[in-house]
Amino acid sequence: MKKFIMKYLMLNCKDATFLMSKRDEGKLSMIDRMRLSLHISICHLCRKFEKQITEIGLGTKNVHSDFQLPVDVKSKLKKVLDEMGNSLVENF
Ligand SMILES: [Zn+2]
Repeated sequence: MKKFIMKYLMLNCKDATFLMSKRDEGKLSMIDRMRLSLHISICHLCRKFEKQITEIGLGTKNVHSDFQLPVDVKSKLKKVLDEMGNSLVENF
């Protein structure tokens, strides 16, 4: 029983990084959060990875927070997307 519990709770690094991504999307169950916390508590590489993705996330959030497309670019982009949408509908 103890082996089963440990096998179920223990993640490898690949699964841990996948769960970190899922957690950032807000899609992590309670048990997966526990499994991830356990793994991060014993794996220094995943702790480092978690710190790096957090910093990258904060950096990209700040980069895009005040960026806006110019109005003329927005209208051109909308026109192109509308044309693409129409051609996709016509070809379907
Ligand atoms: Zn790890």
